[in-house]
Amino acid sequence: MSKTRKISILGSTGSIGIQTLDVIEKLGDMFKINYLTINTRIDLLEPQILKFNPKGVVITDEKKYKEFKSTTSFKGKILSGEEGVIEAACDDTNDLLLTALVGFAGVIPTYHALQKGIDIALANKETLVSAGSIITKLANEKNAKILAVDSEHSAILQCLIGEDHNDIEKIILTASGGPCRTTLKSEFAKITVESALKHPNWSMGNKITIDSATMMNKGLEVIEAFWLFGLRIDQIETIIHPQSIIHSMVQFNDGSIKAQMGLPDMRVPISYALTYPKHSKFDFPRMDFEKFSTLTFEKTDLDKFECLQLAYIALKIGGTAPAIINAANEIAVQEFLNKNISFDKISYFISKALNTLEIIENPSLDELIDIDKLTRIFTLNEIKK
Ligand code: NDP
Ligand code: MG
Repeated sequence: MSKTRKISILGSTGSIGIQTLDVIEKLGDMFKINYLTINTRIDLLEPQILKFNPKGVVITDEKKYKEFKSTTSFKGKILSGEEGVIEAACDDTNDLLLTALVGFAGVIPTYHALQKGIDIALANKETLVSAGSIITKLANEKNAKILAVDSEHSAILQCLIGEDHNDIEKIILTASGGPCRTTLKSEFAKITVESALKHPNWSMGNKITIDSATMMNKGLEVIEAFWLFGLRIDQIETIIHPQSIIHSMVQFNDGSIKAQMGLPDMRVPISYALTYPKHSKFDFPRMDFEKFSTLTFEKTDLDKFECLQLAYIALKIGGTAPAIINAANEIAVQEFLNKNISFDKISYFISKALNTLEIIENPSLDELIDIDKLTRIFTLNEIKK
């Protein structure tokens, strides 16, 4: 891997985007940045431009785009809106696209990049949750790689190196259990935004942090794993592992289990996706086993964490069902963050959307875009009732 590779990063001002730039800086001249795309945080974009000198930037938010254009001295391309993100994603010179936007917004640019045969380093799990069938089929047709950035899926990928797919009995996705692991379900209505945002092990964007609190994050990851690894639903299990040291496991037909471990530091799976299949040299903090003398495991309680159960149900139903729970979840989480609904109502509104809206089998991309919009309107209306 001596040649400099060109990469564009969707969501460079987010938690994953910032850590990706840190990894890229540490990798020296292995990567050259093509485009950086952001939504609103132009104050964070300016120093990124100075450090990485990209070919272009995209600011999705119209107001922030205008503000940026009128104040910056950046001489490269400055694009706006969803069209700008698509242009950045499928730039002919991209060798790799890292997608770290939040939510369904990741689907369309990823689709266009895959059409050009560009490899994807995928953080945006909502892409596979909403459009897994279309995205994985297209990647296969175009012979493009989808490399997981999500720590659990990176762990599974590493455990599967050199193994025969037919030898897999099951995979076990570990979950920290999030900030509400020990909270009783009867207390869920009282969980505040501030306490739900306090994740014990990971520092992440707001949406995924709330997803971790409801355990919808693990549900989305079950669906993500289904598409990434081509397994049956009954081969994908979850277990709570509060220390987040084992990032996930594969159990083989003879009962042998491979686990991938390490400190909870997203730069490790990010760097693996960027330099796959190489483990490049980094000075990230190392594990001190004496500090982690106890690794514990607990059953995931699907009655308590209804969002996780809803994700399994949606995956079993198939078609547009996962896109419906994804869109309803995005709205419900936002409304919880806006303090318009209580924590326990997140699963309620997702369930309402899943039980009410029509499911289409084998949807096209346009049908998925429509169902995403429809579900958002439906869920907002239900919340306002
Ligand atoms: P953040 O909220 O920290 O960052 C999101 C980024 O996307 C920001 O750059 C933001 O711009 C931009 N963005 C947000 N909405 C839009 C939109 N509608 N259109 C275009 N750009 C947008 O999120 P995270 O980095 O935490 O998560 C990103 C993705 O990675 C999610 O899908 C998450 O599930 C996944 N992931 C995250 C992990 C983590 O540790 N954080 C771990 C595993 C997966 P701006 O900030 O400028 O407004
Ligand atoms: Mg994860």
